[in-house]
Amino acid sequence: MIAPTTTEEKTKQFVEILSGTPDAKSLVRIRNEKADDKIRDSIRMTPGVQPFKHNYYTSEQFYQRDRQRGIITNVYGQRILRVTEDFITGVLGGLEDEVGDKAGMVMYETGYAWGMEDMRNFVKRSQGEFEVDFTKMGMGMMLETWWWPLTIEGWGTWQFDFREAKRDMLFIELYESAVAKTLGDIGAVVCYFYAGLFSAVFSVLSRKDFGCVEIQCYAMGADHCKFLISHAERVNAAAFWRSQGATGKDIMKKVRNA
Ligand SMILES: [Zn+2]
Repeated sequence: MIAPTTTEEKTKQFVEILSGTPDAKSLVRIRNEKADDKIRDSIRMTPGVQPFKHNYYTSEQFYQRDRQRGIITNVYGQRILRVTEDFITGVLGGLEDEVGDKAGMVMYETGYAWGMEDMRNFVKRSQGEFEVDFTKMGMGMMLETWWWPLTIEGWGTWQFDFREAKRDMLFIELYESAVAKTLGDIGAVVCYFYAGLFSAVFSVLSRKDFGCVEIQCYAMGADHCKFLISHAERVNAAAFWRSQGATGKDIMKKVRNA
């Protein structure tokens, strides 16, 4: 499929992703006989064992290992690849050798494509798992449900700040970025995968064509990474200020007051 380019085409794609219906295949490992596969307007209160198991966030429960075939899958049946820090360094180094300073853009686009696909699966899975219409799920609960698999898979932990969402400004703090932790303090932002991922996910959820920029990074000496998600004009301005040496705090102040 050719990726949509205009805002109109993109918005159509966001709406299409949000209209996904439950996918039984991804729920096989957590479903039990209490499940009735009805989609409700609110989460069903039921005593005792729940229709779907939700607390599967330990390594033993989350991963399934097929030693004979050498395959690991997660609790939703998705194939998992476990890699070392050397692998991440190798991939990023190889990419930079191939495309030079375009590497950041390639990673961002990769993260964006990943985010779109992840949202497509998540909308289907979470509705089935909680037996509730996706648009009726509480935002906080839904977002933590989305992020949890990424935490156990080693992508870090996060905190979101939506206090200025009405002005189309979302902030995310990311701790233990797999990319930044691997590369260490190299004096530049490096978490382009994440920026692309956040851009896709929050574009779908808000049905708006949002971009994302990392305004402070562990790889620049900060103790955690920070991202701004907003429309292109504001994201580009933040990227420019960052290139001029502004700190994350300065950038936040500037975009808030702009
Ligand atoms: Zn970072």
